Amino acid sequence: MLSSPGWFRDRTNHEHNPLPVALMTDFPRSLLEFQQRFGEEAACAQYLAAARWPDGFACPGCGGNKAWQLQTKAWTYECAGCGRQTSVTAGTIMHHSKLPLTIWFWAAYLMATHSNGISALQLQRQLALGSYKSAWLICAKLRRSMLAPGRSLLAGLVEVDETEIICRSKNDPLTGGGGRSHQGKMLVVGAVEVQDGGAGPGRIRLSQVPDYSATSLHAFLAANLAPGATAKTDGWSGYPGATGVTHDPHVVGKMAAHIVLPWVHRIFANLKVWALGVYHGLRRKHLQSYLDEFVFRFNRRRTRHAAFRSLLGIAVAHPPRPYKMLISPEAKA
Ligand SMILES: [Zn+2]
Repeated sequence: MLSSPGWFRDRTNHEHNPLPVALMTDFPRSLLEFQQRFGEEAACAQYLAAARWPDGFACPGCGGNKAWQLQTKAWTYECAGCGRQTSVTAGTIMHHSKLPLTIWFWAAYLMATHSNGISALQLQRQLALGSYKSAWLICAKLRRSMLAPGRSLLAGLVEVDETEIICRSKNDPLTGGGGRSHQGKMLVVGAVEVQDGGAGPGRIRLSQVPDYSATSLHAFLAANLAPGATAKTDGWSGYPGATGVTHDPHVVGKMAAHIVLPWVHRIFANLKVWALGVYHGLRRKHLQSYLDEFVFRFNRRRTRHAAFRSLLGIAVAHPPRPYKMLISPEAKA
């Protein structure tokens, strides 16, 4: 560092609260650690800046590397070359939000780390939000981040099966018991990658389907299984014939399907317990978004840090690298 050319030294001299690389890779392991790290707006903004520009500021307009932080607009940098202004929240779910960054960070953290997720009501209480509506909107936005575009398809041996989930209507507070007339059934297809010869589940997918016809099931297979994958099923007539998918039917009575397809059945069981526990039953209107949440949580059960970043809409473009850069407001003066 001491032998760096002058221009480089200048930039580092003006560096504003340099962000340790560890900040981008170490994920807070406790609420206390999280509060210490992201308790203030500036810390959150700095985290966003480091995620956006791991190699130092780069203007999206001209590619210039020099910028000043504006004092009139929150967390916005103005390129010294072309004058273009870039907010650290651009491209994230926080963009144009009036809520503090700390609230978003907390919400994403709670959503990512609670093994069962968190409802809008729980979020409102935990963050002492003034209204249920803003809690609900935060949850809705976070949940929308859960469906990653371009996610890779399931590969190898994949268990595939269908299940029925009882839904509840608006006035029907709980499933089971009375009120059957208010209830209906929602049909769901699930797929689970089988890892290491059956030692454990890999990634999963869940989709609402209108029926169990070949058309519906083939569409599910095409959207979720990679070409060359093998679909292991209970032999239902709706599965064979899907393009590019090898079919491995195990014709059994329905009673024994949990033995032939243990992982997808375990996923269905967990899904139903989760739906009751967190949401007191699922509503038809939002079924797919709940399924997406369950899938997101399951597939990132070992990478909470990645889950937190995905939820906030922080692009995971590069591996974190030393943080060089942002020229502080003082540099402009
Ligand atoms: Zn520029």
